[in-house]
Amino acid sequence: MNKKIIIILPIIFSSLAFAENLKSPTSYSKDLYKEIILSGNYDKKIDHPDKFLDFNYGDRVASPSQIHDAINTYKNQSDKLKVVTYGYSHEGRPLHALFISSPENLNNLEDFEDKLSRLSDPRVTNNRQAKEIIESLPAVAWMSYSIHGNETSGSDAALGLIYHLIADNSPKTLNMLKNMVIIIDPIMNPDGRARFVKSLEQYRGTAPNYDDQSLIHTGDWPYGRTNHYYFDLNRDWFYLTQPETQGRVALINKWRPQILVDAHEMGAQDTFMTGPAREPINKNMDKDLLKWGNVFAQDQGSEFDKRNWRFYTGEWHEDLYPGYSFYVNFRGTLGILYEQSRMAEDGVRRPEGTIQSYKESVHHQFVSSLVNLNTLLKNTKEMYKDFWDGRKLNISKDSKWANQSFVILPTKNKSRLNTLAKKLQSQDIEIYINSEEIDVVNVLKQTGDIKNQYTIPKGSMIIPNRQPEAPLIAAILEFDAEIDNDVLTKEREETLKDGSSIMYDTTAFNFTMMYGLEAVTVPENLSKNLLLWEPSSINLEVIDDAIMWAVDGENDASVSFAARLMEQGIQLRIVDKEIELSNKMLSRGSVIVIAMDNPKISNLTSLIKNTAQDLNISVASLFTGFGPEELPDWGGRHFRLLNKPQIAILSHDGFSSYDVGVSWWSLDHHLGIRHSQINTSMIGYADLRRYNTLIMPSGYRNLNQNEISVLKDWIKQGGTLIANNASTRMLISDNSISNIRNIADSFENSHEYNVKLQREFLANNVVIDKKYINDNKVHFDLSYPWEESETRVDSDTLKKRDNWQSLFMPSGAFVAGRVDTEHWLTFGTIDTLPLLYSDFPVLMAKSNENAVIRIGELSKNNSQATYTTINWSDIPPGNDLKVRMSGLVWPEASTRIANSAYLTRERYGKGQIILFSGEPNFRGSSLGTNRVWLNAVVYGTGLGTSPRITP
Ligand SMILES: [Zn+2]
Repeated sequence: MNKKIIIILPIIFSSLAFAENLKSPTSYSKDLYKEIILSGNYDKKIDHPDKFLDFNYGDRVASPSQIHDAINTYKNQSDKLKVVTYGYSHEGRPLHALFISSPENLNNLEDFEDKLSRLSDPRVTNNRQAKEIIESLPAVAWMSYSIHGNETSGSDAALGLIYHLIADNSPKTLNMLKNMVIIIDPIMNPDGRARFVKSLEQYRGTAPNYDDQSLIHTGDWPYGRTNHYYFDLNRDWFYLTQPETQGRVALINKWRPQILVDAHEMGAQDTFMTGPAREPINKNMDKDLLKWGNVFAQDQGSEFDKRNWRFYTGEWHEDLYPGYSFYVNFRGTLGILYEQSRMAEDGVRRPEGTIQSYKESVHHQFVSSLVNLNTLLKNTKEMYKDFWDGRKLNISKDSKWANQSFVILPTKNKSRLNTLAKKLQSQDIEIYINSEEIDVVNVLKQTGDIKNQYTIPKGSMIIPNRQPEAPLIAAILEFDAEIDNDVLTKEREETLKDGSSIMYDTTAFNFTMMYGLEAVTVPENLSKNLLLWEPSSINLEVIDDAIMWAVDGENDASVSFAARLMEQGIQLRIVDKEIELSNKMLSRGSVIVIAMDNPKISNLTSLIKNTAQDLNISVASLFTGFGPEELPDWGGRHFRLLNKPQIAILSHDGFSSYDVGVSWWSLDHHLGIRHSQINTSMIGYADLRRYNTLIMPSGYRNLNQNEISVLKDWIKQGGTLIANNASTRMLISDNSISNIRNIADSFENSHEYNVKLQREFLANNVVIDKKYINDNKVHFDLSYPWEESETRVDSDTLKKRDNWQSLFMPSGAFVAGRVDTEHWLTFGTIDTLPLLYSDFPVLMAKSNENAVIRIGELSKNNSQATYTTINWSDIPPGNDLKVRMSGLVWPEASTRIANSAYLTRERYGKGQIILFSGEPNFRGSSLGTNRVWLNAVVYGTGLGTSPRITP
């Protein structure tokens, strides 16, 4: 009796409270859709999903913890399920893959895995063995859901699918489990989903909301799509920067499933999209898979027809970029994309007046999954045969990849090279090092030049393209992804008509350009004098009675070394020129700890050693400060004192969450030092004296005049402001802070910008005729570079041309960065740095501003006898200018951005402003430009502002 009262009381209480405060709705969204999703012959011993939810299955969005509760229960209730935890998200949520099959199959998983591995390498397996393996293998499917956290219906469908497969005792399901191993990855991005579920809770009212513009549907900044650091996990499949992707890819690659379903959502007013992509499709993709894609889409389409559900295939779905889940297509797995219109969470009213409910969207994903599994069951043996044929082709001398090798030239930047090796090895790519020089007939350079009679230096990293993962190797290492003429025609048509694009993502992405590593492609299968590549060992001999210790500045880890030691109160210096001390050559940008600078630090050498060990970087112990001949000595001006950065990142509404996230991640991932993210609305009244370095990621929030004047004062007093892309655009507008101008505002003064450019060109190419200079006469034949060109363009024409050319800006392509090799911002970069470029502000520098990286590589053209004019700028005789390196860059765009700056640095009072035209940390993977950004963040306050001396 008592018990009953205890149970009833809270209900009475809550309904009373409810009645008093809020009106109940006139209708419920759960009544919109009457179909039943889960309708099997279910085993009563397995808990229905409703048990784990505070609503009926499919009515609302299940939270990650509700789904995890179900998984933890099911693994005890069923012997048809094995749970593998392949990682943890940044916020500590487990990442599960559920292996579902018959209990007998689950006992043989190791055997299947071994067979799949043998079937994928024809160097260890012959045709007869392959046939036996194919006969004995079950079908293997990888079903993954909701990689974008706010695209929720997939994970809800996954919960139902898990239950259905382990609880349904119908012969159909039992037969499926007997012949298949189904691997379900139910919540690919639990942190993003948790963020979105929280906002659903926060914005939920009493009445259902069907307006897709309302906050309950959209969520708020930084939204639920991305993971903890605001990374789009569906762009990370070969860059592998996030724990979710790293763990997932390791397991997928071990299993080589036959299909990989990746269930998403798209715009609320859309329907359902699946099936194979339309052009552009990456040319390295297996043609058989395109064929199979159609087979699966056809079955799925018929099922949708039967149920009166609308859908489409192709349209906006292209597949040029290999960093989607579709990376599996290059490894022989068929990737299948679902895009369900987004209904979370009550449903959405559509133009025809109907309301599509959330439950229906879950049902679409659920049915699609089952249909795809059945199609695989029917075709598994044929697909295995095609897979085997594909693998044989990959290692044969007849494939289009057979006579091609990728070579990464030797570098002292060991940490970047090791990172690359790790990513390649995660994809089972075999990499080598050459023990001797190799002479080859010719090579293709990153700038597109062919160089004949080339010698590959000893110690290069070599990746022959004739190996089992050949298609993926080509997709991620070839300098240019081929795009058909038809696609270019269509793209140009769209651009001209209304400025739209048929390209869905970046058109350039290859690893070596992203990483800023010098590489060549050799049209040969290199196979002689190769050893398996291994990371080189480091030297950690930190000798106590040395007078200085140094780490080499070409290695990216040197920046982290500096940042981490400064945080521990150690005074550091950096050399802005190459040095040689104690017979050791150290690059420009090397970080030096001098014992004399740190008299009070008693454990100096152990701090140095531990930090270097953590970062896997060699330390040189130096015993003399004397550099031979012209080389710098330790008391001179080239040993520059660093200053500890105190960093804040401006964040929140109006900023690109991607660029905020990746800046934050880069500080945490590369440096691991303290910093603050501050809400930009605080700029006007926050105490900015706490920081000496402010990072302004790309954003569209225009600062008001008060905020700008606060920032100006702060910079004048010695602050370093670093801005990217859209924030740079704001800072170079009139009334703002910087003297840099966007190109559209530069035409009246185009002469001054050209003069600045000519000074740089001439300074890099000084030839002295001593007799001429010293003959004491006034010379009448002086030359003025701007008078040398015959084709001056007036400002009106420049303006008209610029308007036209701006229509053709790239959407993610590599252009050549011409690097000022003496500037401290370019420590650790190569001379021609690939820049991932898009519709960025086109930066113009004159007078005293430094144009640290400009666009275009000068290349010799001896038939070019005079100056040539490109819009506002001139190129010296004997040269061409190369802009495009990879991806789609229309000639109009090349002309527009030629010689403009990608990176500028200007003094402002005692401080400085550093502007990036683009987003240097793109996807956490553009390590070439990320290094420049890290130089700005860690070294900027020491090297670019007036030193602060405490009296
Ligand atoms: Zn998505």
